[in-house]
Amino acid sequence: MYNPQSLKAEEFISHDEIMATLAYADANAGDLSLVEQIIEKARQRRGLTHREASVLLACNDKEKTKEIFALAEQIKKDFYGNRIVLFAPLYLSNYCVNGCVYCPYHAKNKHIARKKMTQEEIRREVIALQDMGHKRLALETGEDPVNNPIEYVLESIKTIYSIRHKNGAIRRVNVNIAATTVENYRKLKDAGIGTYILFQETYHKESYEQLHPTGPKHNYAWHTEAMDRAMEGGIDDVGLGVLFGLEKYRYEFAGLLMHAEHLEAVHGVGPHTISVPRIKHADDIDPSAFDNGIDDDTFAKIVACIRIAVPYTGMIISTRESPACRERVLHLGISQISGGSKTSVGGYAEPEPAEENSAQFDVSDNRTLDEVIRWLMQIGYLPSFCTACYREGRTGDRFMELCKSKQIQNCCHPNALMTLKEYLVDYASPETRKIGEELIRKEIGNIPKEKVQKIVEENLVKIENGSRDFRF
Ligand code: SAM
Repeated sequence: MYNPQSLKAEEFISHDEIMATLAYADANAGDLSLVEQIIEKARQRRGLTHREASVLLACNDKEKTKEIFALAEQIKKDFYGNRIVLFAPLYLSNYCVNGCVYCPYHAKNKHIARKKMTQEEIRREVIALQDMGHKRLALETGEDPVNNPIEYVLESIKTIYSIRHKNGAIRRVNVNIAATTVENYRKLKDAGIGTYILFQETYHKESYEQLHPTGPKHNYAWHTEAMDRAMEGGIDDVGLGVLFGLEKYRYEFAGLLMHAEHLEAVHGVGPHTISVPRIKHADDIDPSAFDNGIDDDTFAKIVACIRIAVPYTGMIISTRESPACRERVLHLGISQISGGSKTSVGGYAEPEPAEENSAQFDVSDNRTLDEVIRWLMQIGYLPSFCTACYREGRTGDRFMELCKSKQIQNCCHPNALMTLKEYLVDYASPETRKIGEELIRKEIGNIPKEKVQKIVEENLVKIENGSRDFRF
């Protein structure tokens, strides 16, 4: 039985409710007055239920689809301005005991190079990431209680936060590791992580079990209920996602929004972020072996519909996608992107030798971080290395309050300008710096409060003179 407040996976992600939602969406997608009513509700920034959003996703009317895209763009501008937050993944270890059929780390893959970084190797990687200009990382590991126990992850987080190289610092470590216990989530929280990210892969239980035939990840309930345990362990910011291509996208879309509704119903706060990865080619993995791949138009529509359904949730896109695809969805709702990424274990300090491929998937955007930053500015965005919110205790519902009270422009915008300035002074190429300095000059005028404007101007001079890490 469907119950968003239940703590049981099969009740808050009820298969019957998803099937009923899809039938409702099919029956109503052609009812343009209902579609208009739903769009109107979204226009008032009230978000949408999984049923309402599913109707929009199913609606093929060209005019209405245009309206949905335009609204997504407007909501994105209203809530996130032109800021885009940057991060990089850091793969610590690809040892894995699971059998995920889409992932080259699966235990039966004997030809992928297995690697686990030592703390000294992590140090070198983090220095290389700092030298690129990164301030925010997403830690990734396979699931292996012997090779990658929680103690290893905790020690690595400590190492990462402790490294100070020139003006560099990693100020926020998000973590994407397998579902674990409340106790371990509490340890991650105590280690100072930002967001705990876990992709559901698929919400379809039967498919989930087939796609994860062996290992602890086979347990659908354990995986699906992980975010509740994370929140019980004190982690306020959690990141959802599905791996598009595994199951039918409309099923996943409804499941994803039901998961968000569940978190809101039980914990009073929805997900901090939603990621939208698509399956990619990798060692041992051929994406065409999966039947449910989606084209770029459908992908863009999914992003737009998520944007208007959950306006307060950040959205993440990785280098799985090409520059052209990233540009398209940036306009429609994405608020965070990775740049200069490596999906191998190591590879930032020194390129991985070709014969030692340990990568999780092929990257489609191979540009350097500097190139990504310049490109973002050239297409109208303000790159941000801000990590202030969680360091100021603005996590979970407090962050949502910031969004809802429209103070973002007096808080996130100045933080974006100051962290971009740090990047320009410390790491940018001359060309990127020139574009960036002009952008900062222009954007200072967009800070509503005069007093805040003045403080930012003073801090920008201090950054030029060597001080770092200002934030509101
Ligand atoms: N092992 C952890 C877990 O169980 O969630 C960490 C996640 S893994 C390092 C990061 C994510 O990469 C996975 O959740 C999956 O969605 C995605 N992934 C795996 N194989 C992929 C592929 N071939 N193409 C694109 N993404 C993939």
